Amino acid sequence: MVRSLLKKYNIKGGTFDQHFLVDADYLNRIVTSADLGPEDVVLEIGAGVGNLTEKLARKAKKVIAIELDPNLVRVLHDRFDKVENIEIIAGDALKVEFPEFDKVVSNLPYSISSEITFKLLRHKFKLGILMYQYEFAARMVSLPNCKDYSRLTVDTCYFADASILMKVPKSAFQPVPEVDSAVIKLVPRHAPFEVKDQAFFMDFVAAVFSQRRKKLRNAILNTNYMLKIPNIKEVIAWLPKDLVNKRAENLTPEELAKVANQLIDLKKSIIENEF
Ligand code: SAM
Repeated sequence: MVRSLLKKYNIKGGTFDQHFLVDADYLNRIVTSADLGPEDVVLEIGAGVGNLTEKLARKAKKVIAIELDPNLVRVLHDRFDKVENIEIIAGDALKVEFPEFDKVVSNLPYSISSEITFKLLRHKFKLGILMYQYEFAARMVSLPNCKDYSRLTVDTCYFADASILMKVPKSAFQPVPEVDSAVIKLVPRHAPFEVKDQAFFMDFVAAVFSQRRKKLRNAILNTNYMLKIPNIKEVIAWLPKDLVNKRAENLTPEELAKVANQLIDLKKSIIENEF
């Protein structure tokens, strides 16, 4: 079915991260995982020739499909202009203002995985079923002390529960990509730990994971050009020794938040006392 669509419209793929999911079994498993009901509005990013779009629209109230490539937008209009519950938005998903939606189900363009995920996580929605490059998915769901534990893991954990639903082999796509893929289930929720200043926490996590092999005290000292904490050497002495003597990669998201909270409190009190 998908192969014949690609042939009919003479779509070769390859540019704009175009690797089309041609395996019907994986397409169906993705749709089933979204657990769609007649009240669900679904956002799809990178609709391609509409292989997933069509299956989603059969179960959902509405599918809003964003596609960047004008050739594919033409295909989508040709296929779906008479389908009442499919809306097509032509444009770059990073720039388009997202409409309101309940669920997001997409075989994402992998080169924008990080930016698009964090754009999504700043919106309110119930469930995400999202295909990523396998290595990226592994970093999203990793644990402290593991090689994949990273800034991405901590940021994801701050916004949502994430789990890998299935690994998808290269052979499920056309053209065949160089990497394997995985489908992630993303359930947004409030962070299970206190963060006093979200922007500072995100900067702190980015800073200390840029020096992941260094003890936290040195990582903070070396990246203070990002954190901008006055009197940093004295401030570090106030931080919990058991935590700053470990590396970022050995600390849980909650422990990282604890240090970030203390740092932002100290930063604010120093700045307030200076004026
Ligand atoms: N949904 C189709 C499927 O499952 O086979 C296509 C998925 S393909 C991996 C990614 C799609 O995203 C391509 O159709 C590509 O043109 C589109 N795309 C790439 N960058 C995009 C962007 N910034 N905004 C919207 N769509 C984009």
